Amino acid sequence: MRRDYGFLVFCFLMATLSCAAQNSIPSSAHNQNLDAALPQAHVQNSSANIATLPTDEATSNSNVYTLPPDLLAKAITLTRLRAILSFGGTAWSIAVLLLALALRWPARLRDWTERITRRRWLQGLLFLPPAILFFIAMSLPLEIYSQHVERAYGLSVQSWPSWTGDQCKAWLISLVVFTPILLLMFWIIRKSPQRWWLWFWLCTLPVIVFGVFISPMWIDPMFNHFSPLEKSDPQLVVQLERLAQHAGLEIPPSRMFLMRASEKVTGLNAYVTGIGASKRIVVWDTTIQKLPSDEILFVVGHEMGHYVLEHIYKGLVFTALVLLVLLGLTYRCVAWLVHRYRAQWGIRGVDDWAALAVLLLAFTCFSFLFSPIANSFSRWEEHQADIYGQEAIHGLVASPRMTAQKAFVALGSVYLEAPHPNPWIEFWLYSHPSISRRANFAAHYDPWLAGRSPRYFSK
Ligand SMILES: [Zn+2]
Repeated sequence: MRRDYGFLVFCFLMATLSCAAQNSIPSSAHNQNLDAALPQAHVQNSSANIATLPTDEATSNSNVYTLPPDLLAKAITLTRLRAILSFGGTAWSIAVLLLALALRWPARLRDWTERITRRRWLQGLLFLPPAILFFIAMSLPLEIYSQHVERAYGLSVQSWPSWTGDQCKAWLISLVVFTPILLLMFWIIRKSPQRWWLWFWLCTLPVIVFGVFISPMWIDPMFNHFSPLEKSDPQLVVQLERLAQHAGLEIPPSRMFLMRASEKVTGLNAYVTGIGASKRIVVWDTTIQKLPSDEILFVVGHEMGHYVLEHIYKGLVFTALVLLVLLGLTYRCVAWLVHRYRAQWGIRGVDDWAALAVLLLAFTCFSFLFSPIANSFSRWEEHQADIYGQEAIHGLVASPRMTAQKAFVALGSVYLEAPHPNPWIEFWLYSHPSISRRANFAAHYDPWLAGRSPRYFSK
């Protein structure tokens, strides 16, 4: 559910919930923020042999993040596969939508609903659920293949029945969320054919904010088990409170949660989610199991950075602005497409239920074109959080530079990230800077040296 499905399509709200509502530490491995990791065997002796970490002195010129040959080969293949699946997912969505339009499936579904009832809202209730299910189902082959790859590389330990259960829950949520939203959209299109994109955008804003607010309390627990960190790991909470105090923050322990990720994945993660009363820091149990305590401090320091720098709110404002532009462009494009292909696709106008496929087609294309902008914004926030985390642990660990580097190397190895991703792929798909970039920055960032000053803390 939390994955970015590669095609943002009609899932712009779902995408908002997953991307804007969370600022996670790891995954530069394309746009996902729920990720996976490396085979158990490697994780067990993670600090020793999975990756090479140069010593403090040796970092000045070389690349800090390297992998041993066997892992390197796997990482390069996997990084390539992730990119292919991401770009391929968008191409696949566009192709299926065009095929459905050419075969007049949306028009046929509309005709069927019109034969059953004359009431427009009832037609919508008959048209939208199967349409929504079709748009989700069309990405299912790629989803299944993705899960197969993650299991094959040991990144996922989730059984197929459990995975299928999660998919069904996500489908159900999509139906419940999008049926009324799309009903509303078509009602607005009818009322204001010229300005519907603007009114609809205004209507989605409170829905998005509400979604981000309830997501950690209602949606996330449907997929994973959460418990107060204080209950499961009181010692860690004491350490984290020291870190918060040291950073001059007030983050009560009631805002810290542990997620039982080990049931499904082997990767490490922590993230900040929610707004207002639901705002919280979540740490995966795998992170606590696999990282030494000073590196956990860095990971949580990074999350505290998101927390205090108000990245969720900034993300929301950014998402809202991008959505406005996307809807404006979609409006213009759909009007033209419907006018041009009216006869071929059997669509009467933009307010026709069957025009939903055209709306999704245009929205998919513009979302894809906008993803480098959204990801650049996300990478900027992530870089800020990296700096914050490294500065926050100064005085609490022996060497913040080494701690941050080690954490990045562990992260990269666990997610099988290639050390040198293609810069264009990074630009287009990565929500976080590449691990090489993050580790190299950490290795050379020491604001406590004479003549330099920290960005977020006083010396
Ligand atoms: Zn982050």
